[in-house]
Amino acid sequence: MPAQPLALQGGPKTVTATLPEHHRWGREELARLTAMVDQPSLFYSKGPQCGALLEEFRKTYPLRWAFPTSSGTAALHVAVAALQLPPGSEIITSPITDMGSVIGILYQQLVPTFADIDPHTYNLDPAAVRRAITPKTRAIMAVHLAGAPSDNAALAALAREHNLILIEDCAQSWGAQFRGQPVGLTGHIACYSFNEFKHVSCGDGGIVATNDERFGPTLAKWGDKFYDRNPTADARNPATLAPNYRMSEPQAAVAAAQLGKLPAIVAAHIRVGSRLLARLRAASLPGVALPVIDPRDTHTFWFCLLRLVPAAFRASRDEICAALVAEGATASPGYIPQPVYRYPVFRNHNFFAGSWPVREAGLTTVDYRQVSCPVAEAILADSISLRIHPAMTDEHVDQTADAFAKVVRHYAA
Ligand SMILES: *Cc1c(COP(=O)(O)O)cnc(C)c1O
Repeated sequence: MPAQPLALQGGPKTVTATLPEHHRWGREELARLTAMVDQPSLFYSKGPQCGALLEEFRKTYPLRWAFPTSSGTAALHVAVAALQLPPGSEIITSPITDMGSVIGILYQQLVPTFADIDPHTYNLDPAAVRRAITPKTRAIMAVHLAGAPSDNAALAALAREHNLILIEDCAQSWGAQFRGQPVGLTGHIACYSFNEFKHVSCGDGGIVATNDERFGPTLAKWGDKFYDRNPTADARNPATLAPNYRMSEPQAAVAAAQLGKLPAIVAAHIRVGSRLLARLRAASLPGVALPVIDPRDTHTFWFCLLRLVPAAFRASRDEICAALVAEGATASPGYIPQPVYRYPVFRNHNFFAGSWPVREAGLTTVDYRQVSCPVAEAILADSISLRIHPAMTDEHVDQTADAFAKVVRHYAA
């Protein structure tokens, strides 16, 4: 049977299924918000919603100290601040991440450095992290990208060997597991996000958590002006500088209800993502590199990123992506437009009113214009991101895979 013409060229659209109406928030959130209205206080340290949120959180992440924050970025900033590193210290992270990973590092007068990533998991390559370690390195921030756990065993071993702190940025990987262990339990400090786009959301919010007694007892202070809310303490007598990153009770009410549904939400993402990958694998499409997932791990598919071998096609990645969209697939080119170190803020070292005090004080010689992570750059240039929505029907997933197969076969060189 001859191939159908592309939808882009007037042929039939492959994806005819549409997303069913989907409510992320419902009875559970409403019940908590309704109860909350009768509370005498909406302040985190007095209200039951933040407490309930942490109780739900600990069902999956049994971490002794945990502080709910106003965002994932805030959680990461608290984590970094709690390390109390001297200005100019370096923290190695991934060049493919959200700005939230590096914002707190820079505000603490520390230096994010970038190690290249694995071409098939898109997470930090432990060998590249090893090469990025300098005498100034004090921590590694692993980013579990798109629902895929990083190689926590290798990163934890590196951290032990070099006496580094391992921070886990779990914002995109709610429910993900490395060798049966939920992400966030291997490193020294873990951070999570409840922003609009994550698996679970309360609009904006986050959690920073740890089992490490060096950092745990101060987490709340680092997110609360360094005030001590312990009733017996001299509350407003801060010993150092810290922002206000508190979560409020309305956010916590919604986040707690969301976490109650986390297993079901994660299961829906896994159903869609693994079905999509299985269909694409079965189609054995030349020139397409699917993400590699270790069968011992659990990928929770915040989105699905796959790569095209440029030489295998007669069209560019962007043209292929446009053809996919015309077929009705929810696809977009790559993830972020360029690695974080290529953003103008880094290229121009424009961190504080056009300058970078840490460098001017001679505490670092890092120059972001010199940074190059070729694997990360190639991934962002040749990858396509397919949306994973928990309400997608099997038919919708199959049509998406069919659209992908139709388009890449059409453009095969
Ligand atoms: C979303 C995200 C953050 C920041 O979370 P916000 O809640 O938006 O501040 C940090 N790191 C990664 C990898 C993210 O995806």
